Amino acid sequence: RGVKAWLPVMYGCNNFCSYCIVPYVRGRERSRRPENILAEARELVASGYKDITLLGQNVNSYGKDLGTGVDFAYLIEEINKIEGEFVIRFMTSHPKDATRRLFETMAACEKAANHIHLPFQAGNSRVLKAMNRGYTKEQYLDLIAMAREIIPDIVLTSDVIVGFPGETDEEFEDTLDVIRKVRFDSLFTFIYSKRKGTPAAEMPDPFTREEKQKRFDRLIEIQNAISSEKHAQYVGKTMRVLVDGEGEGGGYNLTARTKGGRLVHLNGDKSLIGSFIDVEITGSTNWGLFAKLK
Ligand code: SF4
Repeated sequence: RGVKAWLPVMYGCNNFCSYCIVPYVRGRERSRRPENILAEARELVASGYKDITLLGQNVNSYGKDLGTGVDFAYLIEEINKIEGEFVIRFMTSHPKDATRRLFETMAACEKAANHIHLPFQAGNSRVLKAMNRGYTKEQYLDLIAMAREIIPDIVLTSDVIVGFPGETDEEFEDTLDVIRKVRFDSLFTFIYSKRKGTPAAEMPDPFTREEKQKRFDRLIEIQNAISSEKHAQYVGKTMRVLVDGEGEGGGYNLTARTKGGRLVHLNGDKSLIGSFIDVEITGSTNWGLFAKLK
């Protein structure tokens, strides 16, 4: 029996970030019709799925190409109305298209996860411009402040590229500054890698792989400390989690997720897979939590 389902809401991307090949290979944004998405969501819930992730390269621009006034927040509102206990997740969100309405809708819809994956990629505004991301460091930080004002317990994750062509050591400091200011729950960090046919592949790239690796290692060290601190704050709390699968060794036979998407390891009967249960968080690391049944 499936627990997690992925539901594509749109295909393609219009953004042409200068390092990314997706718009060339997947074409322009095409949103699926809302009635088809909602019918599929109802079927997934009826078949017992408990964790539904709405997928698109940039879900925040959902609906713009349909010209009917529907937007991504509308999809969350409508899926939230489906009867039953399940979690609505989504990815990926582009910061330039994340709106107050999106966060207010997440806050108002009890099934929407209190989590957003909001890739910032770089902290320096010149680098962001060269990446063609469409926002500055300040705008990104303002967006995070707005998200936290509307959803105080929001879990924030992000993607970062280290060593974009021409990014200097000083510019990289801005990436670290964003990480320290935002205090993401976790990060997906990549060293820049060239994609043939993109504008960034033609940009001068004077820094060596070794220099970029040093920056990467520093970033990981800073982020691991933040993730550890954030996860430690869960210890002793009772949380409702969805048991979503079997553990892979390590002395715990089940895995679960908090509503915010944090990984939880616990022991219990396999029949719990697919159930929402209350657990007590007993321990943590920089990458996850440990819990026992209540
Ligand atoms: Fe589109 Fe994301 Fe690629 Fe940018 S990084 S072009 S938003 S798919």
